[in-house]
Amino acid sequence: MAETRTAYVRRVQRREPVHEAREKWTLKKLFKETIRFSKNRRRYSSSGRTRLVKVIPYVGTKTAVIHLESFGVTSKAIHQIFISFHGLHITERVMGAGYFRVQYGGDDYWIRKPDISKDLVRVRCSCKDFFFTFALWNFRKNALFGVKPRSYTRKTTTRPPRNPKKIPGLCKHLVNASLWLRRKGYVIGQRLS
Ligand SMILES: [Zn+2]
Repeated sequence: MAETRTAYVRRVQRREPVHEAREKWTLKKLFKETIRFSKNRRRYSSSGRTRLVKVIPYVGTKTAVIHLESFGVTSKAIHQIFISFHGLHITERVMGAGYFRVQYGGDDYWIRKPDISKDLVRVRCSCKDFFFTFALWNFRKNALFGVKPRSYTRKTTTRPPRNPKKIPGLCKHLVNASLWLRRKGYVIGQRLS
């Protein structure tokens, strides 16, 4: 996986895949699946500093793509995080409470704050845990942001598969990014955990 950060960011955003799956996900629902996958994931350790890179508003499709970065605590790795919310009212008109403002392409947009347990979401993280544990199942179940994940060949067949029940979910960066977005007032609703 010798792909540079910028190459990764460019590749995964290239297009939205056409999802056959009917499933619809909220952050809350994906978190519940994450715990169903493993109870140990109920409380993730902190994942280092989170930084908002940008918010891309798509007025026509009522979608806001939130791009964040997470800086590793123990390693120098910087992970690219994408959380897209769907079905949001987005307008260039000045709005009040319940909306947040972003600048994009020289214009100001007001985006209705997504609710953690109500608004539809797709997610992606560039870390290995997300890739090997969840990416494919998130893709198959309509919960992955961006392009289909690259396929990989399992090196061993002696160990059981990582996610035999094919459960979609969130890595710790996605959970911590969600908590960060709530703390900063970009999203509303009950806490994830
Ligand atoms: Zn991650």
